[in-house]
Amino acid sequence: MEHPDFDVIIVGGGIAGCTTALWLARAGINTLLLERGTQAGSKNVSGGRLYTYALAQMLPDFIATAPLERCITQEKLSLLNGDSAVTLDYHHNLPCSYSVLRARFDPWLMAQAQAAGAQCLTGTLVDQLIMQQSQVVGVMAAGEALYANTVILAEGANTLLSEQAGLQAKPATSTLAIGVKEVRALPRAQLEERFTLEDDQGCAWLFAGQPTQGKVGGGFLYTNRDTLSLGVVCNLSSLSNSRIALPHMLQQFKQHPVIRPLLKNSELCEYSAHLIPEGGLDSIPPLCGPGYLVVGDAARLCINTGHTVRGMDLAMLSAQAAAETLIAHQALQHYPQRLQQSALWALIRQYRRLPELMLRSPHWFNRYPQLAADVLQEMFQVNGHAPTPLHKLLWRHARRIGLRQLLKDTVNGMRSL
Ligand SMILES: Cc1cc2nc3c(=O)[nH]c(=O)nc-3n(C[C@H](O)[C@H](O)[C@H](O)COP(=O)(O)OP(=O)(O)OC[C@H]3O[C@@H](n4cnc5c(N)ncnc54)[C@H](O)[C@@H]3O)c2cc1C
Repeated sequence: MEHPDFDVIIVGGGIAGCTTALWLARAGINTLLLERGTQAGSKNVSGGRLYTYALAQMLPDFIATAPLERCITQEKLSLLNGDSAVTLDYHHNLPCSYSVLRARFDPWLMAQAQAAGAQCLTGTLVDQLIMQQSQVVGVMAAGEALYANTVILAEGANTLLSEQAGLQAKPATSTLAIGVKEVRALPRAQLEERFTLEDDQGCAWLFAGQPTQGKVGGGFLYTNRDTLSLGVVCNLSSLSNSRIALPHMLQQFKQHPVIRPLLKNSELCEYSAHLIPEGGLDSIPPLCGPGYLVVGDAARLCINTGHTVRGMDLAMLSAQAAAETLIAHQALQHYPQRLQQSALWALIRQYRRLPELMLRSPHWFNRYPQLAADVLQEMFQVNGHAPTPLHKLLWRHARRIGLRQLLKDTVNGMRSL
C-alpha cells in the first residue's frame, strides 16, 4: 500500500461524518473529511428534530453555542382525513430534543470538528474508493488519490460509493422512504401565536392518513425560531403503485383544513428531497471490512417508530462507536461489537419487526384514520335523534374493518412497538 496521507479519511460531512471527525481529531488522530456540498448541510435534509443526549456527551455545553431552533415541548400525533383530524396532544417540559435546521446545524458541527484539529474540505466529491487486494486504502477525489489507514463511509442514505465498490448491495425499495420538505418563513410572533408557544418552546407534529393518501408513510411539521419545516415521507415501494407523485401529496397536505391556516402568509424559503433508510435491523449492511467502517445512514441506522424519527442521534452514536474503536487501536471488527452492546442496537432490535409490519398492514395508513374520524363524527354529531350507545357505535365500526383483521393488526402492532 502507498504511504498513507492520513490516519483516517471520512467521506461525507453530515452528522455522522462531522461527529466522527470531531471525536478522532480530539484524540489527535490525523483526519481528513471530504464533503461534496459547498458547505456542510447544504445537501442534507431533515425534518429537523434532534434528540440531544448523544450531542451532550460530546459537547456538554452545546446549548450555549449550537444553532438550535426550539426546545420541543409539544408533541402532536394526528390521523388526518379529507377534512378532519383526530389528534393526540401532549405538552411537557422535557428538554431532551430541539428542532434544528441542517443548513445551520451541520456547518456548526463541522466547525467544532475543525476547531479540534480535523481537516474538512467542502465542495469535494469523492468519485471512487481505492481498493488494493480487496482492502479499501484511500479515495479518489477531484482527480487526486488520497490514502489512509482507514476510510469511514458516512455518505448518507444514497450509498453510491459503497455499492460501486461492492461493499454493500443496492438496498431494496421496500427498505427506503423518500421525503420532500419545505422550510417556510413565518414571523416569530405569528408562529408562536398559531402554535400557542412561548419563548423558545417548540412543537413536533406527525401525521398519518391524508398526507400520503393512505400510502405507507406520513407527514411532519416542526416549528423553528421563525420558520416551519413541513413535509411528507413515503415508503418507496408503496409510492411506486401510487397515482399521485410525492410533491403533489405535499401540496395536498398543505391544503388540509388543519394545516392551511397554520401556513397562511408563510413564504417558501427552502425545498428539498432525500432518501431515508427505514428497513431497520434486517437491512443493515456489513458495518466494516478491510480498511473501512460504515456509519450513520450509510449503515441504515435510522428508525421511524411512528411517533418519532431517529436518524441524527443514531448517526452520532454510530460515529462515536467508530471513532472509539480507532482511538482504542482496536481491530475494525470491534466496531460492530461496540454497536451491538450499545443503546442504539437495543433500539434497532426493539423495532425490528416494525418496517415489515407497516408494509404488511397498510390499514394503519388507509383505513384506521378514517375509522377514528367516523367514530368521532357520530359521537359529536347532535341531530335531535337519540345518540347511539358508545359500545354499539364502536362495534359497528369495528365490524366494517373486520374483527379478525382488527385483532391481528392490534396484536402485531403491540408486538412491533
Ligand atoms: C425528510 C426527512 C426527515 C427526517 N427527519 C428526522 C428527524 O426529525 N430527526 C432525526 O433524527 N432524523 C431525521 N431524518 C433522518 C436524518 O436526516 C438522517 O438520519 C441523518 O441526516 C443521517 O446523517 P448522516 O450523516 O449519516 O447522513 P447525511 O446527513 O445524509 O450526510 C451524508 C453526507 O455525505 C455527503 N456525501 C455523500 N456522498 C458523497 C461523496 N461521494 N463525496 C463527498 N461527500 C458525499 C452528502 O453531501 C452529505 O452531506 C430525516 C430524514 C429526512 C430525509
